[in-house]
Amino acid sequence: MKMRTLDRVIKVALIGDEGLEGSYALTPGELAGDLPVDGPVRVTARLYKVGEAVHVSGEADAPMAMECARCLKGFVLPVEEEYTAVYMKKEGFLDDGVAEDEVELSKEDMDIQFFDGDELDLWPPARDQLLLALPMRPLCDEACKGLCPECGQDLNEKTCGCETAPVDPRFAELKKLLGGG
Ligand SMILES: [Zn+2]
Ligand SMILES: [Zn+2]
Repeated sequence: MKMRTLDRVIKVALIGDEGLEGSYALTPGELAGDLPVDGPVRVTARLYKVGEAVHVSGEADAPMAMECARCLKGFVLPVEEEYTAVYMKKEGFLDDGVAEDEVELSKEDMDIQFFDGDELDLWPPARDQLLLALPMRPLCDEACKGLCPECGQDLNEKTCGCETAPVDPRFAELKKLLGGG
């Protein structure tokens, strides 16, 4: 199979019996806020027909625009993920006596996408995988020192001289009772 340039939405007929392999790119504008990116997302896709269904696997890589959880500075996190999914024809599949909840169950193991008519949108499974790869607490650097809780100084740039040793509130209260503070 030779690698070719694909559109994000392709005709199923394009896949043929030997399958289809290709790649496409989406600009931040084309993503329309789907993902926080700092540049184009590149996606490869290998597609095979399995009866009425289409199996897809590939890689997606994107420069993600993140904000550091410690110093709040923006930074770019390159994310590269593999994805697989199965596209099932919407009509026919659910009429085959398969209950909705069974579909939900298998969806947890495998990314199942439905398609109508004769076109596939190649983007959703790649997008879902990239979203899953985003860290809950992004850090610009494992060693990021963060901001001073007193004055807000970015401690990666310079120290500020604030008393930042964490004070146990119970000791602060005791100190007050003793007439100290
Ligand atoms: Zn940081
Ligand atoms: Zn400070």
